[in-house]
Amino acid sequence: MRTIIACILALTACHDLYGWGQKGHDITAAVATLHLTRESREMVRNLFEGKSLVYWANWLDNASHSPHYEHTLSWHYVNIDAEECVDSVLSVAVSDSTHIVWAIGRQVEVLRSETASRTERQIALRMLVHLVGDIHQPLHVGHRSDRGGNDWPVEFFGVASNLHEVWDTGLVERAHAWSYTEWAKEIDSPIIEEDGYRLDLYRVYAKGSPADWARESHLIACDIYATTPQLSPLSYDWVARWSPTVEQQLHKAGCRLAMLLNEITMVVTE
Ligand SMILES: [Zn+2]
Ligand SMILES: [Zn+2]
Repeated sequence: MRTIIACILALTACHDLYGWGQKGHDITAAVATLHLTRESREMVRNLFEGKSLVYWANWLDNASHSPHYEHTLSWHYVNIDAEECVDSVLSVAVSDSTHIVWAIGRQVEVLRSETASRTERQIALRMLVHLVGDIHQPLHVGHRSDRGGNDWPVEFFGVASNLHEVWDTGLVERAHAWSYTEWAKEIDSPIIEEDGYRLDLYRVYAKGSPADWARESHLIACDIYATTPQLSPLSYDWVARWSPTVEQQLHKAGCRLAMLLNEITMVVTE
């Protein structure tokens, strides 16, 4: 019996629809931590009672499966079909409480609200750190018809998989064998240009709205679909092709999470 349960758990873990794998969320939170203002660090320390952003980054993937948070199951993504107009879907998604675009805005609202309880703000922060990660996983803004790549079978290093799962976990794990802290440090290091000018990409990435970020992810997803036919045997060359994209998406996610938190604390402390 125990073996059967273990097999079922292993299978469901392999077919998680709900986000970057744990590594992707940890990296996003670790990058964000590097860019928090003193006020934001204080808000995180206060609401998380000494725990870090990384500590809670994966919480929502598990919580969404509990009856209390069942309504958040659809908050991890927004899918858009090839024949749909991206802009009109996203403009509806901003006010549609079943989507990630709305859900991110909602958590920001709760964190800004003066009437929200401490518990509500704690939960909102846990959700926000997770969802800003998810909206940067291109296949979380994939096509509805194949459930964001879940119904797009591929072979990854000889093992049957699907495009969504490969983007959630396989690609991140194969791109670099780094810990989440090493990932954060490597992708977030400033670029030193020839004239010695130090370019911190935080300034470049920390802008836009959740709808803008979803549009960006969707365009990347379209490119992934176009260059990865169903049943493709994916291996080293495919990982090399997409590693810079996964690095950039995780980097952007971290910078934008920091931006939202820094904006929230600016309003609160003004
Ligand atoms: Zn998720
Ligand atoms: Zn996912």
